[in-house]
Amino acid sequence: MKNKGILLVLSGPSGTGKGTIANKLIEDKDIVLSISATTRLPRDTEIDGKHYYFKSKDEFFNMLENNKLLEYAEYCGNYYGTPEENIDKWINEGKTVILEIETVGALKVKQKRPDAVLIFISPPSIEEQLRRLKNADTGVRNDIEKRIEKSREELKLADKYDYVVINDSLDRAVNEIKDIINKSKNTL
Ligand code: 5GP
Repeated sequence: MKNKGILLVLSGPSGTGKGTIANKLIEDKDIVLSISATTRLPRDTEIDGKHYYFKSKDEFFNMLENNKLLEYAEYCGNYYGTPEENIDKWINEGKTVILEIETVGALKVKQKRPDAVLIFISPPSIEEQLRRLKNADTGVRNDIEKRIEKSREELKLADKYDYVVINDSLDRAVNEIKDIINKSKNTL
């Protein structure tokens, strides 16, 4: 029988490149990215069911009332939540499941599932984070002030995470996370 996979939470302020890191990690067939539900409107490049499950507020709160979400949080005026449905199936198949979520939700996951591994991705510098935010697509740029304010709150929670990984170079950060995954699997 295949060994179990792990539940891996990736958080970090907007502009840290955690989405790019997650996309690189899922090139490995044993790593899957959970698709969240959100009440945020889709950006031009986003596809329903691929980037998010885009929901109305009613639909989102229906999921919540029916215990379909492992966690949820509000972020810059919108709700985001992790569908619980497939997580254990994937873990039992030996897959590492990535939740790319903000800090409030991440800490809720740790309470519910203490064996989840929490990684905080930190930008190499505030200047670099601002540069990435300004180059992001319009949906992000319109929210820039709110997102910078949120970053300050999120950075204060970094010490509650199991690991902090600095995204100074994509390949280096991805390799560091792969090492953490292997180490965590060996201690299950
Ligand atoms: P964005 O609007 O840039 O796609 O996401 C905003 C924030 O919400 C990011 O920090 C992202 O990681 C977080 N997020 C995405 N999905 C979820 C989720 O299911 N739960 C929680 N708590 N945060 C999420």
